[in-house]
Amino acid sequence: MSLPPMDTRVTYPAGDLRSTGTVVHAEPFGDHLAVVLDQTACHPVDAAWPDQPADQGTITFGDGDRAVEVAISDCVVGATDGSALFIGDAVPVRKGTEGWAFLAVHLVYPTASEAAQVGATARVDIDDTTRRALSAGHTGCHLASLALNAALADAWRKDVALDTLGAPDFDALACSSSRISPRGSTDHYRVGKSLRRKGFDPAALDDLDGLAERIGRILAGWTASDAAVRIDRDGELLTDRRSWRCELPGGPAIIPCGGTHAGSLAEFSTVAVWLEREEVEGAVGFSMITTVVPAG
Ligand SMILES: [Zn+2]
Repeated sequence: MSLPPMDTRVTYPAGDLRSTGTVVHAEPFGDHLAVVLDQTACHPVDAAWPDQPADQGTITFGDGDRAVEVAISDCVVGATDGSALFIGDAVPVRKGTEGWAFLAVHLVYPTASEAAQVGATARVDIDDTTRRALSAGHTGCHLASLALNAALADAWRKDVALDTLGAPDFDALACSSSRISPRGSTDHYRVGKSLRRKGFDPAALDDLDGLAERIGRILAGWTASDAAVRIDRDGELLTDRRSWRCELPGGPAIIPCGGTHAGSLAEFSTVAVWLEREEVEGAVGFSMITTVVPAG
């Protein structure tokens, strides 16, 4: 059994929808076959912070008459120390742990077992429509979190860590989960004792409709700016540091991010948020549902 000594090279951060690589490892995984390629255009979901779901698409193993095309059922982050392949929740170490390689693991039906031999060529084709919709949803999610921070900036009585635009980072301190969907996202926030001790005044959440309105106004200003968006990265490997950068009117917003994004806010006509009160484990909380309406 061969397991790759280095991370998968990933091309989706540059917006690629197609890649040609080589099978470096394949093994059964439940009723699927887990396939690792040297490089892929397929965005994998990361069990450690599963905000953006996997891309949809196909892999074609081999070429010519003997080519076999299969759907990608799922693509998840895995890791190996050279002895075994750990997939999704089973990964026992954090990204960047010495001696471990992090991999995009494609799960496909075993009809591909014969063709998906180590060394076989593997062409990945990603569904453009789903990718675009998820990229829009992810950019909208970042914008909404920054607008939420800005709208709650006056609710803090003590100094806390600031976000990329200089507002107290409510999102980083209170967000318990974040899920990107096609042209949208849902974030859950929890305001417990520790947040109050840090100086957050929960009365700022008494009027959620008013708060949503303020967030909406900030988002409208940003969307109207048609700001450019790009992903900066230190390298091409799965765990190389990447960040989302949006050239907002007040200065660039930069957030560490492993996902995919829109190319510009000109692609959006509106980013709208809906806030809904909820109680989580006895603490006050709310969810923010963000919807991106594409331009034209
Ligand atoms: Zn992100």
